[in-house]
Amino acid sequence: MHLPYKGIKIALDNGDGDFSFISHAHYDHLNSVERQTNFLASEETYELASLSGKLKTIEGAKLIEAGHILGARQLVLEEDGKTTVYTGDISIKPNIFGMTAEINQCDRLIMESTYAKPEYKFPDSFDVYSSIGEWITKNDSKNIIIGAYEMGKTQELVRVLNEYCGIAPVITKKAERVCRIYEKFGIRLDRLVVGSNEAEEIMRGRFVGIVPMRYAKRYFAAKLTKAFERKTLVAVATGWAVTHRFDTDAAFPLSDHADFDDLLYYVEQTGAKDIEFFDNQGSELLTALKSRIINILSNK
Ligand SMILES: [Zn+2]
Repeated sequence: MHLPYKGIKIALDNGDGDFSFISHAHYDHLNSVERQTNFLASEETYELASLSGKLKTIEGAKLIEAGHILGARQLVLEEDGKTTVYTGDISIKPNIFGMTAEINQCDRLIMESTYAKPEYKFPDSFDVYSSIGEWITKNDSKNIIIGAYEMGKTQELVRVLNEYCGIAPVITKKAERVCRIYEKFGIRLDRLVVGSNEAEEIMRGRFVGIVPMRYAKRYFAAKLTKAFERKTLVAVATGWAVTHRFDTDAAFPLSDHADFDDLLYYVEQTGAKDIEFFDNQGSELLTALKSRIINILSNK
């Protein structure tokens, strides 16, 4: 999808068009970016996504905070007295790093709608942080591995383990590349990289590891139990835990996305009259919006 703006074509989260707005560095928002040389994105996203063109600015276009992961932004375009906002992935409740989406009044809103379904109701992140901390502390004689996406979620978990358990977890090299960029932008993360001397030292005793989601399975934990001669428990930390079952000892519904009610609140607060969904999954949100409006009117 792209937006025509002052005679130029701005591509939304893909590499077509004269400029590409990249909302954040998750791979599903980076389609064919290698074709592009002109980017509208935050410096953090530029680094996390390893973009190779140049970061540019366009008069009348601004980037505002989106919550979600480091560097995530929304695009705001002003033209002929009208404001358009494109969201990408957003989170409107602050996470452990204090990131939270700004809400900009607009006429036209183009939004992601992956989670625009009533079954998506995420608990407060700080409650989830506490339950993760309690579970890890309760099982302090066992090794623990937690499955999490390597960009964004792993860094959030590292900080949770630092703050709630005083633990520096062992992470993968891929996750370490991302941690370094977080640190470059001022976010401190205490962790150990698998294969390093420090990690090997720690792994002689009880340890907590953060692994890619595909390894967060009981069979893999059983292998570790054998290899390290210590019972290993496995968990996942993902928003999908509210709707999916996982082959793990625990599943924590930690999401960096706005849920259905958050999206409803967000849309209402923007005041947008024209609402489009980037991925055509927003019909239930529109129905809920309509019934809220009808309720308000009928109560008057
Ligand atoms: Zn994302």
